[in-house]
Amino acid sequence: MRLTKFTDLALRAVMRLAVSEQDSYPTTREVAESMAVPYAHMAKVVTRLQHLGVIEARRGRGGGLALTELGRQSSMGWLARTLEGDEEVVACEGDPPCPLRTACRLRGVLRQAQEAFYRTLDPLTVADLVGSPTGPVLLTLSTGPRDP
Ligand code: SF4
Repeated sequence: MRLTKFTDLALRAVMRLAVSEQDSYPTTREVAESMAVPYAHMAKVVTRLQHLGVIEARRGRGGGLALTELGRQSSMGWLARTLEGDEEVVACEGDPPCPLRTACRLRGVLRQAQEAFYRTLDPLTVADLVGSPTGPVLLTLSTGPRDP
C-alpha cells in the first residue's frame, strides 16, 4: 500500500497546522517551505482540504491557515480514504485490463489488505500524530520569511 504524494502532503499539512500556536496562522507558502515541497503542490492540497472543511483561511493581518474543529476531530483513516478515492492498489481494470480480473482471488485479498491499512488509521486523529517526537520537530522546521 502506498499513499499518493497528494495525500502525503495533505497529512503533512494537517500535522503542521496542528502544532501552530494560538493566534499564529502559517501561510500556504510557509507550510510548503516547512515541509520542503513546492508551493504550487501545497496550494492544491490546501484548496482540497479547505473544500473538505478540514482547514480554513483566517483573514487579516497575521492571517493564514488553521485547522477547523472538523480537522482536529477527523479520523485520519477517513481523511486518507477521502483523498485516495476508490483506487485499488493494483490497476486490474487498466489498459489493457487484466484477463484475471473477474475471477481473481489476489484482487480480493489485496482489497482486504487495503481496508486493513485504512482501519489502522481510523481511530487516529491528528493529535495522535503530533505527540513527541513529531510535534516538537514540526515546531523547529524553518518557515522562511513571511509573505507580505
Ligand atoms: S492478477 Fe488479479 S490483482 Fe493482479 S491485476 Fe490481475 S485481477 Fe488484479
